[in-house]
Amino acid sequence: MSEAFYVTTPIYYVNAEPHIGHTYTTVVADMLARYHRLRGEQCFMLTGTDEHGDKILEVARERGTTPEAVATEYAQLFQQTWDQLGIQYDRFIRTTDPDHRVVVQSILQKVYDAGEIEFKEYEGLYCVGCERFLTDRDMVDGLCRDHERAPENRSESNYFFKMGDHFSWLAETIENNPDFIRPERYRNEVLAMLSEESGLGGELCISRPKERLDWGIELPFDDRYVCYVWFDALINYLTGVGYPDQSEFETFWPAAEHIIGKDILKPHGVFWPCMLHAIGAPLPRHLNVHGFWNLDNRKVSKSLGNLISPIAMDERYGFEAFRYFLLREMVFGQDSSFSEPLLIARINADLANNLGNLVSRTLNMTNRFADGVVPTPGAQEEAEAVIEKTAARVAAEVDEHVLSLRPQRALESIMGLVDETNRYLERREPWKAAKDPDRAGQVPTTLYTCCESLRITAVLLSAFLPKTSQEILSRLGLDSPLEEASLHDLTRWGLLQSGLPTVKGPPLFPRVDVPEESK
Ligand SMILES: [Zn+2]
Repeated sequence: MSEAFYVTTPIYYVNAEPHIGHTYTTVVADMLARYHRLRGEQCFMLTGTDEHGDKILEVARERGTTPEAVATEYAQLFQQTWDQLGIQYDRFIRTTDPDHRVVVQSILQKVYDAGEIEFKEYEGLYCVGCERFLTDRDMVDGLCRDHERAPENRSESNYFFKMGDHFSWLAETIENNPDFIRPERYRNEVLAMLSEESGLGGELCISRPKERLDWGIELPFDDRYVCYVWFDALINYLTGVGYPDQSEFETFWPAAEHIIGKDILKPHGVFWPCMLHAIGAPLPRHLNVHGFWNLDNRKVSKSLGNLISPIAMDERYGFEAFRYFLLREMVFGQDSSFSEPLLIARINADLANNLGNLVSRTLNMTNRFADGVVPTPGAQEEAEAVIEKTAARVAAEVDEHVLSLRPQRALESIMGLVDETNRYLERREPWKAAKDPDRAGQVPTTLYTCCESLRITAVLLSAFLPKTSQEILSRLGLDSPLEEASLHDLTRWGLLQSGLPTVKGPPLFPRVDVPEESK
């Protein structure tokens, strides 16, 4: 049986339109699913929407509508956005899906029966944005650090999950599996949260009284309460692959890779492993944590409302270019900056001048000097051998970088091959060699080498820039889509057959002029 790969995005909360943060996480998950599928693995990608909680009820009241209507409107917006942008998810889950409710209730009952949930009075400062009671550390000048609004004073009886009972097990597990949370800095952050000094507390409130909030999944052991959102939301990762008894669950759960932003490290790094331990389910394979996109030095957060819409980026620059920027620019785990001048600079340098230029020069000259078909190469000289070796090295590097979650390094490596091939073409100067009787015989070898390097580049790019990859392959006369289980074979040098008809085509990525106002 082939290896399995299960990748998840967080389920996005339905109170904001898709922005650059959602898009980055989703693009990383999509890239990983495509890459692992091409390695011949059995893949499943899950994304979706988180739909319960106070905030949705608030929005519904403001608009004079129902929380169902608000949730459905935003869920459709997310799903349509990913469809329009070509994200290949296998399931779009909504926390209002009937199978999810069944799974959440069965898990609640299981944890309750095990004596891990207790009922008690609690009083504290509650942030509606965070949907939880805040500690001193969550506040700056009396306001919620994340939401910049004053918390409310609340006291109520609620159900609490005694997650603290699992802290020492969790700390030990993380110490023994040093790459469970990656990159490393986030592992250290979670370990710090688990230490007594962190003030995190060992009790997680998991309920809301219905008299105040009836928009949620009812507790199976007390119908006066609904489930608090994190406990409900995190379980989507299990529902998505058929917990507890469908065969997909056995196949995919042990191979689970969560992709999250650092703002939700605590629920994923602490609450979730404790919940899984309480029900006797294994941990996911990795928790992969990325940083924030900064716009004008403020983090792009759904609550602050400074958004970059992926649909707007698609209309202005093409989604492949935006996708390239996101994957190339951010060092996974660290914060990055976004601005349109930065995006344009990347498009022009990497996609127009480097990749686009190699495609157009190679195919124009194949048209002029080889009757528009892939030529038959002669004997390789040192210069060609260097390109072949570079292609093999880059294919190995890309594999290593993708598996270690360094998309930016993988793309840097692929662009290195393109760069090297451009320099080779300049040194061989077929446009001059073709007119020189001593060197004309070299031209078919030169053009073949460039075509073959481009073919391998396109194969390696396919998970990152699926449309561009397909376009390059089809211009090289290779129309059928890449087959699964073929990444390793497809990057072998010399597979490109001579005689295939090539197509010049328009520029792949036209240069973008920098808008006047940002010069
Ligand atoms: Zn808050």
